[in-house]
Amino acid sequence: MMMVEEQAKHVARQPVGQPVISVVAPVYNEEQLLPEFYRRMVAVLESLGEPFELVLVNDGCRDRSPEIMRQIHDADGRVKVVNFSKNFGHQLAITAGTDYAQGQAVVVIDSDLQDPPEVIPELVARWREGYHVVYAQRAERAGETWFKRVTASAFYRLIDRITNVNIPVDTGDFRLMDRKVVDALKRMREHHRFMRGLSAWVGFKQIGVPYKRDARKAGETKYPFRKMLRFALDGITSFSYLPLQLATYLGFGVAALSFLFLILVMVLRLVNPGEPQDAIFYGQATTLVAVLFIGGVQLIFLGVIGEYLGRIYTEVKGRPLYIVAEALGFDEDKTP
Ligand code: UDP
Ligand code: MG
Repeated sequence: MMMVEEQAKHVARQPVGQPVISVVAPVYNEEQLLPEFYRRMVAVLESLGEPFELVLVNDGCRDRSPEIMRQIHDADGRVKVVNFSKNFGHQLAITAGTDYAQGQAVVVIDSDLQDPPEVIPELVARWREGYHVVYAQRAERAGETWFKRVTASAFYRLIDRITNVNIPVDTGDFRLMDRKVVDALKRMREHHRFMRGLSAWVGFKQIGVPYKRDARKAGETKYPFRKMLRFALDGITSFSYLPLQLATYLGFGVAALSFLFLILVMVLRLVNPGEPQDAIFYGQATTLVAVLFIGGVQLIFLGVIGEYLGRIYTEVKGRPLYIVAEALGFDEDKTP
């Protein structure tokens, strides 16, 4: 009885037509998968029995995806579309989707069906239990290359060690976030976004749900190695100063070693005055190696400083995170 009353109260609090659950999916050239994605997603969401919206973010697709999205929107008003003016990237597409989403809970999911929509009811159940962030944790990854699995796994462990935020290992962006979390995220307008880190950083009650990540059904990954590396650097620089501090540690190490070397040379001189020492200490090769080594280390750390500096420059310019060409299906007064 109590349950029913509570539920009724819950429904009454929702203004008419206001979605309880928003699903945000970034789309970049997924024409082959969109129809199936829509079908499976709507089947799952309808089974939940709550008002919902599906926010598709067209991240500057160059295939037929935008037409397909428009058709789906025309046929089903619960599907809304944010059309970017060009490709801004996966993380910014997710950002725009969460900015536009109106639901009390916002689920972020890939549109390539690697994250099965069928996991969403489990996420929602945990949210109903009172958790604010329910992240889906990959217990298994099907159909990904050995290389991607190993590098991804190493990366998640590395970032866990060197940052002071608790970013859960083996989680992607597939997660449910409570309205409170989404509102907090909306206040973080950094450009080089590592969304899974940001949603851990905000705190609140977080929990993971294990799932099996499927193989991509069609099309190809939009994350080639170069982009993966950039993304990993965004994650590290967003949450850690360790790469900068490494220069200090290494500097102390090299200075200490060279001091020991100095003492060694002095002792050898005193023991054998006047006699030319072994060429190892006085030869040109030694000098060359020492100079090149230090030169190399300095260049590396100039690069590290550059990574941070470039990011500072981007922030200082203060450009908008993304440009929307057209938004379909949103209430005028509620668009961000
Ligand atoms: N995506 C995007 N913009 C991009 C690259 C990817 O919106 O510039 C979307 C893509 O459509 C997919 C999700 O982000 O829904 C994840 O991309 P992908 O499957 O290529 O990455 P992977 O799963 O291979 O890491
Ligand atoms: Mg994928």
